[in-house]
Amino acid sequence: RQRTFAMVKPDAVHRLGEIIDVIQSRGFEISRMKMVQLTRTQAAIFYREHEGRPFFEPLLDYVTSGTVIAMELITSDAVKRWRETLGPTDAELARQEAPDSVRAKFGQNKQLNAAHGSDSDISATREIEFFFPSSKVN
Ligand code: ATP
Repeated sequence: RQRTFAMVKPDAVHRLGEIIDVIQSRGFEISRMKMVQLTRTQAAIFYREHEGRPFFEPLLDYVTSGTVIAMELITSDAVKRWRETLGPTDAELARQEAPDSVRAKFGQNKQLNAAHGSDSDISATREIEFFFPSSKVN
């Protein structure tokens, strides 16, 4: 079993129930979950690998535009399986290539794409620790 980090982004939080249904029906255990309003500074740290990209500032606007839902998901091969469940970054492409994916069902376009998933085991550890610091219970 492996863990990964999932985040429902502000555009899709109003469909959290349906997204949880997909997560559970695909065999993931939701082991931790929390609702958070990120500050711009926190968002910039979380997405620091994208600093300098043309979509960086719009991305910070987007993920701070409302609350997000952070989750730790557990299953075998969780990182790869959650990325597959999400589908392509661009929700319009996802509707063509992976119509059952989370982004196809709940996303709008290449920016407003409903949810995030860690891209590696190392990223998953960093992202889980970012939202759920191990020394804290609240
Ligand atoms: P995530 O990291 O959120 O799981 P991803 O790995 O599929 O998504 P990245 O390339 O890491 O995609 O981009 C991070 C996020 O930045 C995307 O999920 C999307 O919200 C936004 N984004 C990416 N590319 C663009 C773009 N060309 N225009 C606008 N927003 C973009």
